[in-house]
Amino acid sequence: QEVHAAEMERTFIAIKPDGVQRGLIAEIVSRFERKGFKLVAIKLVVPSKEFAQKHYDDLKERPFFNGLCEFLSSGPVLAMVWEGEGVIKYGRKLIGATDPQKSEPGTIRGDLAVVVGRNIIHGSDGPETAKNEINLWFEPQELVSYTSNAEKWVY
Ligand code: ADP
Ligand code: MG
Repeated sequence: QEVHAAEMERTFIAIKPDGVQRGLIAEIVSRFERKGFKLVAIKLVVPSKEFAQKHYDDLKERPFFNGLCEFLSSGPVLAMVWEGEGVIKYGRKLIGATDPQKSEPGTIRGDLAVVVGRNIIHGSDGPETAKNEINLWFEPQELVSYTSNAEKWVY
């Protein structure tokens, strides 16, 4: 089946400082790759606290907001854009519930994290936030359009 990259859904996925420090980059990237999703942007960045506050703007009234933004800006974050059919919703499924105690085994947080404040990964929660988060973290020219060898077998 012919699939045009321009029509494909994209989501923003980030490995938080705890995931990077614990050496889980390859493990996490591998789960998205094996599923059949396509990596279209990736970079390692240390976000400023102001940037973290922008990223988590919808949570600014929550009691954990300050600690969360301190944490996100405390070290390198692996920022990524993944592409594929249903990648926003299924990406969240791969990640698991926000609280790792409630994440199913087999999910990233279920398998690799224990507490909500150190749940190692972020994923956009819908089409609107995906678009906003991709625009916040990446310049348009950082998104790479290409045909992966695998996709003609995935679709
Ligand atoms: P998700 O990351 O699953 O989309 P939310 O958007 O609700 O979850 O929250 C963003 C992040 O804030 C969570 O991933 C987690 O790191 C942190 N967080 C959420 N709830 C709490 C909490 N009760 N205490 C501490 N940190 C929290
Ligand atoms: Mg969220």
